[in-house]
Amino acid sequence: MINVKMEDLVKIYQNGKISVKALDNINLEIEKGEFLVFAGPSGSGKTTLLNIIGTMDRLTEGRLFIDGEDVSGLSKDEASEFRKEKVGFIFQSFNLIPVLTAYENIEFSLDLMKKYGAKEKRERVESIMKEMGILELKNRRPAEMSGGQQQRVAVARALAKQPSLVLADEPTANLDSKTGEAILDLMREMNEKKDITFIFSSHDPKIIERGKRVIKLIDGRTDKEKASE
Ligand code: ADP
Ligand code: MG
Repeated sequence: MINVKMEDLVKIYQNGKISVKALDNINLEIEKGEFLVFAGPSGSGKTTLLNIIGTMDRLTEGRLFIDGEDVSGLSKDEASEFRKEKVGFIFQSFNLIPVLTAYENIEFSLDLMKKYGAKEKRERVESIMKEMGILELKNRRPAEMSGGQQQRVAVARALAKQPSLVLADEPTANLDSKTGEAILDLMREMNEKKDITFIFSSHDPKIIERGKRVIKLIDGRTDKEKASE
């Protein structure tokens, strides 16, 4: 089943008279359950592409389908509703809410969906924390956790709502290499266990090689593909 489909996708940033073509005619299909990395140097378009797939940003030309739905033309509000249901995000700088504990951070992502009662929320938060072996972090606030622990909580937060896909823009950039690789292993484990698509980006060869499918981006274009395993 096709999870994400991009057709002649173009993104041009226009600031006054200056325009930058950040994505130049991307055509790509991503199947449900893939573990895919966009690899490329700084400025190659990784963040732009992930933001567009996540409906955070609008494309200039072309079409984008997620689970068969054309999301290219969604209004701001529609896009926001759409991604609340369908997309989990993992950020480079973790982005946990400082005043909330690990548990509350994960719970908050479910609060936003406004469709779970107290009992179901508790069950979901506890089960994902247990599954990921982070129950002992339950009552800690971000400042009381290491970067690696915060990113584990962030992965749990992305997965708690059982999204259709998880997007992670350079998820290991603020971690030392060993911790970064452990986060990638955890993402991969959850990807296989739950059959949820993971799309991440990196410019670090050690991280890129952990992708099951590597799409190289150069100047907003996709380059040759390498399929591993
Ligand atoms: P990467 O994440 O691979 O570093 P980006 O997607 O951030 O690449 O950027 C791709 C290109 O688009 C770069 O040339 C960058 O300078 C440009 N760009 C990104 N965001 C904006 C913006 N908001 N306005 C103008 N240009 C932008
Ligand atoms: Mg970037």
